[in-house]
Amino acid sequence: MPEPIGEFSDRVVVVTGASQGIGAATALAFAKAGATVVAGCPTHDAESHRQAVANWREEAGLPPERVAPVTADVSQTDDVTEFYDTVQKHFGHVDVLVNNAGINRDHTLAKMTDEEWRAVIAVNLDGTFFNCRGVLPLITDGGRIINISSMVAQTGNFGVANYAASKAGILGLTKSLALELAPRRITVNAVCPGFIDTDMTRSIPDEVLQKYLERIPLGRPGTPEDVAATVLFLASPGAGYLTGQSLGVNGGLYTGD
Ligand code: NAP
Repeated sequence: MPEPIGEFSDRVVVVTGASQGIGAATALAFAKAGATVVAGCPTHDAESHRQAVANWREEAGLPPERVAPVTADVSQTDDVTEFYDTVQKHFGHVDVLVNNAGINRDHTLAKMTDEEWRAVIAVNLDGTFFNCRGVLPLITDGGRIINISSMVAQTGNFGVANYAASKAGILGLTKSLALELAPRRITVNAVCPGFIDTDMTRSIPDEVLQKYLERIPLGRPGTPEDVAATVLFLASPGAGYLTGQSLGVNGGLYTGD
């Protein structure tokens, strides 16, 4: 794993969906760089998610006070309100929010059910909105909000209209919020990962996967640590003049804006 960028001692960082995949790698990178991390976990299978957070924390030799698992279903406004009440009670403020929790429910549009559409919009887009709004009273001036979107928000893809719409919505939210929060020097940016090796992509059939991988100019799938490194860069002091942007982490698979 690349060395973490920056120094985050005394910083309070919230990462949603932090028990596994990109969220876990990001939360771990912040904790290793000195931050106190609030590791968001879903309410379904809450205990196993909290245990997963404890596992990666222990493996990294970090003490319990540096990584606190806190549960909330990001798609539920009351859950998110309660989540930030807990964060305020225990940590007082937030310096960095990373909206990472996300799901996919893939089907071509003709076969997509209302439930599949609504579930993906609810977690990915509503969840990002609820967390951005929830953190506002707590986030420090000069703070950072980083929203995990996706390359498919920029390109579209077969069978993922609900997911692509939710992730494109995040880009619009990001740009608007960047303008609203600029007077407080809070930057708001999005990261658009391409193909990253996590549970989310492991269900892709082998033949589809191989075709996809062959098209990546850098010749390998991305790792959760590749995305984490970009998130830490956006949270670092050196990125203080960068706001309302989306950064692709896709190995060159898409080189547009
Ligand atoms: P992942 O391993 O499935 O992690 C997502 C995490 O979010 C899981 O822990 C998941 O819990 C949690 N989550 C799901 N619903 C939630 C809810 N309602 N409330 C709170 N947490 C919830 O996937 P990943 O690949 O690391 O993805 C992380 C982010 O990157 C997502 O936003 C994803 O869309 C985005 N992304 C991923 C890729 C990729 O290639 N992997 C590419 C572009 C963008 P459960 O597992 O229990 O549902």
